[in-house]
Amino acid sequence: MKPITYKVEADILTHDKNPYQIVKELLRDSIKELNLSENIYHILKKPMRVLEVSLPVRMDSGEIRNFTGYRSQHLDVLGPTKGGIRFHPGVNCDEVKALSIWMSLKSAILDLPLGGGKGGVIVDPAELSERELEELSRTYIRKITPIIGPQKDIPAPDVNTNPQVMGWMVDEYDKLRGYNIPGMLTGKPIVIGGSQGRLEATGRGVVITIREAAKVTGINLRGATAALQGFGNVGSMTAKFLDELGVKVVAVSDVHGAIYAQEGLNIPELLSFVNAGNRITEYTKAQTIPNEDLFGLPVDIFVPAAIENQINEYTAPVIQAKIVAEAANGPTTPDGNKILEKKGVFIIPDILCNAGGVTVSYFEWVQNEMNYYWKEKEVNQKLEERMVESFYQVLTMRENNQINMRKAAYMVGLKRIVEALKARGWVKRTDFS
Ligand code: NAD
Repeated sequence: MKPITYKVEADILTHDKNPYQIVKELLRDSIKELNLSENIYHILKKPMRVLEVSLPVRMDSGEIRNFTGYRSQHLDVLGPTKGGIRFHPGVNCDEVKALSIWMSLKSAILDLPLGGGKGGVIVDPAELSERELEELSRTYIRKITPIIGPQKDIPAPDVNTNPQVMGWMVDEYDKLRGYNIPGMLTGKPIVIGGSQGRLEATGRGVVITIREAAKVTGINLRGATAALQGFGNVGSMTAKFLDELGVKVVAVSDVHGAIYAQEGLNIPELLSFVNAGNRITEYTKAQTIPNEDLFGLPVDIFVPAAIENQINEYTAPVIQAKIVAEAANGPTTPDGNKILEKKGVFIIPDILCNAGGVTVSYFEWVQNEMNYYWKEKEVNQKLEERMVESFYQVLTMRENNQINMRKAAYMVGLKRIVEALKARGWVKRTDFS
């Protein structure tokens, strides 16, 4: 039986929208909906600090290549800024700024005492040797050292960075400072101060929000079907926890291609296969399909867990899922969002859906500061509480104001940020109408 119901053009995967413009529009709209003045928007629309760094690295060939990196710190009124570091050829200054604003909102929604930050380097790490990657990671941290630290700005992993990269980075920072400061960064290997449960945290949080969304929409997860775009840290862990809940994950993809099995993929087996260094497209117990065919599959749940702008005016029309869980940051463009809404899709917005990562990163930072470490069960319990509470705060905001989940999430986050601005005297009573 042919699994694909619609076909979209392959070039949609390069479709682009500026995420900084998108986040600013959403901020402005949500500020208006909260009856706050434009003055609040003027404070929030720009990150408080953006650093661009040059990263010369001697390649194995002897040649020096000079990479470009960024670090954006959006706002620290709730606490030190915090957010991941992305290594990707598509990184640019506006993307990093947008991601830092989303981090501010995410931390505020989860009620974490943190602001938003984000970093990135323009590079395709697949083209680097391990030594070159280590050199680049260490150089990046040296260059941003003046503006980071456990009380200032705390990086973490994001696309194409992992615990090993975090290990090199924390080591470089410790060498510069002369002593160990594990709380300067999160997502570290557990042996040098990482938290139990951090590796799984984003996917675990995504699935908690899907579970709650299924209750709201009346979907029985046992036997429901899902397709996931991206099978890195977030996508693979989301697949694992969906599978544990009895959801049939029928398709997954990565940058090289997608695989499909109508009866459901054997996720534990696929995870072992990928962890052994194989590509998902080499897995023979499923059919390979073009990446763009993933969008139109007849599934209950669709999870974008790769990069921005994947659900847009071209792909949204073919999506059949009842729940779209935004595990990635900024996966849906405003046009894509409108189309999904018209179809009545329940969208779990990124700043809520993937906030499990920053939540357990916060727990890691707390444990580092105390130098006392929790068991995995305790970490997961605390994550569960925070995610469920935040999910229902956003849902209540949605219901009270008859708005969509995305705007409701922005409003929950904004309310906390604005309270902090008020407490610090940045805004006056006249800024609240
Ligand atoms: P990762 O590098 O571990 O994985 C990214 C995956 O996406 C890979 O499988 C890659 O092959 C795939 N991919 C990239 N481009 C693709 C394309 N065009 N089509 C299909 N697949 C594609 O990164 P990650 O940490 O899993 O992050 C994924 C998303 O989740 C990002 O948007 C990131 O910002 C967001 N996020 C990550 C965390 C975290 O804790 N790592 C937390 C919150 C949000």
